[in-house]
Amino acid sequence: MIRIYNVQTIQGKTRALNIASQDELEINGEGLIAIPGLIDPHVHFRVPGMEHKEDWITGAQAAIRGGITTVFDMPNTIPPSTTLKRIREKKILIDQQLAMAKIPLRYGLYLGADKNHFQEIALAKEAVVGLKIFMGSSTGELLMDDTKSLHTAFQLATESNLVIAVHAEDEKRIVQRKGKMEGNDPKFHSKIRDEKAALIAVEKAIRLAKIYGSRLYILHISTKKEVELIATAKKEGIQVFAETTPHHLFLSEKDYEKWGTKVQMNPPLRSEENRLALWKELTNGTIDTIGSDHAPHTEEEKKLPYGTAPSGIPGVETTLPLLLDAVNKKMVSLEQVVKLMRTNVEEIFHLTPNDDHVLIDMKKKQKIENSHLKTKCRWSPYAGRELQGWPVCTIVKGKVYDFRKPS
Ligand SMILES: [Zn+2]
Repeated sequence: MIRIYNVQTIQGKTRALNIASQDELEINGEGLIAIPGLIDPHVHFRVPGMEHKEDWITGAQAAIRGGITTVFDMPNTIPPSTTLKRIREKKILIDQQLAMAKIPLRYGLYLGADKNHFQEIALAKEAVVGLKIFMGSSTGELLMDDTKSLHTAFQLATESNLVIAVHAEDEKRIVQRKGKMEGNDPKFHSKIRDEKAALIAVEKAIRLAKIYGSRLYILHISTKKEVELIATAKKEGIQVFAETTPHHLFLSEKDYEKWGTKVQMNPPLRSEENRLALWKELTNGTIDTIGSDHAPHTEEEKKLPYGTAPSGIPGVETTLPLLLDAVNKKMVSLEQVVKLMRTNVEEIFHLTPNDDHVLIDMKKKQKIENSHLKTKCRWSPYAGRELQGWPVCTIVKGKVYDFRKPS
């Protein structure tokens, strides 16, 4: 049994908290608030095939450092997770690495939609949290941009009662616009993969969800207009859910100046106007979740010129500190953060609740520094920011990771 005494609830009451565990442990929670262990529904831990970027040892360390006790991993690995056999093989690798890390991180895996493996949707349904469809190309080779395949995928996933998670950017428009740009200014990224590219795809995905009665989860919403489309669809009774990312909340096109290709990701950074609109929607309920879209690449890879540099940034361990700092700045409430990163995810994906907890210190001030990061890539576009409000202890499956002790 783990007994945390003198700890505060989100509502500000002091109490003792007992958590079932094989260990006997008492923790003084004075000055700390206990929140449930958070869920990051969108990470790329790069196993198998890209272990030089991340693996489940460093990935799990980064996750628990950031107060995350459950992650959902994406299928665009090498090879991609497009069959039940590959999902099973991936689970074996993950379990081995988590055992080496001595971290019982909870995880779910997405099946990648592939037009050559439609039969796998029904086969793998019990082994995955959802079906991931790339409507626009990103890292890896999973792409499903033809209407016929999209219809089939939506129909089959819905029959299997799977959440359909879409990367909603219109491939045709991206290719068209890419042809028009010359040069290697990283800012082109936001012009090539423009707002319209996202809108076309979101509209199409919502139409499909309406036809088949699907549970649709739109990943990394980045614009005001997407939010408006989703709000309308929700009012119509379509089961559509929206995720946004920390980078679309804390970075904008202005950041290309400082960070160049390091802040190149898909969908790309947007205008300040869009960024501020997302903050508004975080508090009024249209946006359901925040996923870090933790997509690490090495600094060397990111130093390549635009056009060659890969898209994606790390984020699993910095998401909660950034949000706690925002709570301190009264941009969002702590209750809302817990909804966005725990209870809403549980509801959308029909998860069984667990007793994981995170202790947070809302007074602690600390800078994000690359040298402190646990992710294998060891860089962050938030390096140098001083934040107030940090997770200091994470409890997952009855195991305690206390970061207040020198390690
Ligand atoms: Zn992603």
